[in-house]
Amino acid sequence: MPRKTVPKQCACGCNSMTKGGDYLPGHDSKTLSAIIENVGGIKQLRQLVEGVLNRQIEVRS
Ligand SMILES: [Zn+2]
Repeated sequence: MPRKTVPKQCACGCNSMTKGGDYLPGHDSKTLSAIIENVGGIKQLRQLVEGVLNRQIEVRS
């Protein structure tokens, strides 16, 4: 049985429908860029997320 795909509204807020994913192609990275820009940078985003998770994010090389 093929996986049933249920169209969803794109999570970026563009009001378009996806083929089942959270985002249309490219809209996930567009959203991430906007988040990073709004929060002031990746360093700030990491600090924010670590605060919410109450633990450190491990960066693997
Ligand atoms: Zn979108």
